[in-house]
Amino acid sequence: MTGYLSTIAATSLFTGAQTRHDEGMERFGFGFTEEETLVARAARDFAARRLAPGAAERDRTGRFPTEEIAELGALGLLAMKVSHDDGGAGASNVGYVLAMEAIAEACASTAVILASSNLASKILADHATPAQRAKWLAPYARGEVGPASFALTEPLGGSDAAAIRTRARLEGGEWVLDGEKCWITSGAHAAFHVVFARTDGDGKEGMSCFVVERGAKGLTVGKEEDKMGQRSSGTAALAFEGCRIPEGNLVGPRGGGYGVALSALGAGRVGIAALSIGIAEAALSAAVAYAKERRAFGRAVADFQNTQFVLADSRTELDAAWLLTLRAARLLDAGERAASESSMAKLFASEACGRVVDRAVQIHGGFGYSRELAVERHYRDARVTRIYEGTNEIQRIVIARQLLA
Ligand SMILES: Cc1cc2nc3c(=O)[nH]c(=O)nc-3n(C[C@H](O)[C@H](O)[C@H](O)COP(=O)(O)OP(=O)(O)OC[C@H]3O[C@@H](n4cnc5c(N)ncnc54)[C@H](O)[C@@H]3O)c2cc1C
Repeated sequence: MTGYLSTIAATSLFTGAQTRHDEGMERFGFGFTEEETLVARAARDFAARRLAPGAAERDRTGRFPTEEIAELGALGLLAMKVSHDDGGAGASNVGYVLAMEAIAEACASTAVILASSNLASKILADHATPAQRAKWLAPYARGEVGPASFALTEPLGGSDAAAIRTRARLEGGEWVLDGEKCWITSGAHAAFHVVFARTDGDGKEGMSCFVVERGAKGLTVGKEEDKMGQRSSGTAALAFEGCRIPEGNLVGPRGGGYGVALSALGAGRVGIAALSIGIAEAALSAAVAYAKERRAFGRAVADFQNTQFVLADSRTELDAAWLLTLRAARLLDAGERAASESSMAKLFASEACGRVVDRAVQIHGGFGYSRELAVERHYRDARVTRIYEGTNEIQRIVIARQLLA
């Protein structure tokens, strides 16, 4: 890295949300519990120490953060919302979003691995039998086995989850799965996959949920996708060809898989809202630092009113995104379904994230287009937040449905 670039990179490293937390998020009027503050601090400390330093290198090489994920597992962050009884961190949804933002600010790839692992583990915590929990959840929550995956999307069924074609049939006391999943985060590295398959005819009612362990006979993991951003999250396709798993690997009621998937996705969306905010906070910090440092026409770029307006818009939008995210998280913690509020948080935060990273690149001028600066990575990492965990068109459908009901 050249001298000038390294100065910029050093000044812009992972400072934004820390500052905001130091100033106190309490100004939003949400009092955080001691546990929420603790989980957020643990995540922020880990992110600064273990994730931020290698994020650019992992982005370049696509290396899955195996060791870092193992350490996060040992901290209980792969099973954040799983209760203490099941070995998890027992965090609230608010604690979860605070941690997710901190991780994403340092490394969006690691954040999405956490998001899918937490989605999978929450499903087991909510729907698995005590025996299943003891078998899969306990060692997983202790961080002994690595990440887990949530495998719903298929080549012919993404937004339309009820259109999945993977089938599971009972044969000789075993389930036999045939079909294909795609775009599965941690697909190539997960200890087990929470898989949705059709057991009983077409439509939502015919879907069931299963655990398929790594190395199951008849399961083939495809090569990792070469992606635009979030490049080290180990996204892969899973092929099931006569894949035999024990009858006891059915999670939740037979035919209840659609409800199981939906039950977790609302909270998952709030996590993606926080992940989006984390990426955007990193980009905004970089833009603020650069605007103060860089001079043009004899003045700091920060002195131009346009720069100030652009930064002010970004700060305002991110605070608004936070308010929506915290509202949804609080409602979930109060036991509400909060489908519309979760979708609003994901929709607004991911779109605000897109605007903020774009402005941040612009403030950096030509340097913003250099792979040597983190802002270029944030720009690429941001784009997928409008696509996964339900595209933003699907979020609008959820919001409009409630509005018009
Ligand atoms: C990096 C990455 C990681 C992912 N991780 C996972 C994972 O871990 N597990 C998993 O199961 N999936 C995962 N996904 C898949 C992701 O959830 C899907 O890509 C997403 O839900 C969209 O599905 P699709 O790609 O099939 O798009 P499609 O459903 O084919 O949609 C194409 C376009 O049509 C629009 N559209 C579709 N239906 C409507 C409608 N009714 N009204 C208006 N517009 C509509 C969509 O919004 C989109 O713009 C991941 C995807 C990516 C890119």
